[in-house]
Amino acid sequence: MNKRLFSMTCPYCDHPFEILKETVLIAGMDPGQEERIQNGTYFSHVCSRCGRLYALAYPFYYRKPGSYAITLAWDKPEKESPERVYSCATGEQFTKLFRILESQADWRVVFRLERLLKQKYNKSVVFESFDSNKSMYYFFVDSDLKAIHCKTKEK
Ligand SMILES: [Zn+2]
Repeated sequence: MNKRLFSMTCPYCDHPFEILKETVLIAGMDPGQEERIQNGTYFSHVCSRCGRLYALAYPFYYRKPGSYAITLAWDKPEKESPERVYSCATGEQFTKLFRILESQADWRVVFRLERLLKQKYNKSVVFESFDSNKSMYYFFVDSDLKAIHCKTKEK
C-alpha cells in the first residue's frame, strides 16, 4: 500500500540497514497501529548490531479526518488536508503530539507545564495524559506520575 523501503543508520554504532515502513496512516484504519503510537512503540527500533533502542524518523503522515494531521520528517509539500497539520522532526515529538492531541489537551499548556516541571525538578519530564473532565494534566517526572490541575486555556 503505502509501504516504502528506507535506508537507515543506527545513530549509536553506524550500523546501516533497510527497513520497510508504512508512510501513511489514517485514523480508524488500523487501531493496533494507533495503539502503538500511543504507547510509544510505533517508531522505536532496536539495533540488530548494538542492541540500543531508539526512535526512527522517516517520512510518515497520520491523519484523523475532521480532527488533525501530524507529519513526521515529511519532505514533500504538506498534503492537502482540511485539518490542521502539525509537523514533527522526530519520532519522540510525534508520539508526544499524538498523545496531546488524542487526549484533547492544549499543547501550549502541556509545553508550558513541562518546562515548569523541568525547571522545578531538574529531571526528565514526559507528558502522559490529560483528563478533560477534571482539567488534569499528568506527567512522568522521571518515573513519578504527577498530576497538575490547570483550567486555563492558553490564548
Ligand atoms: Zn547500533
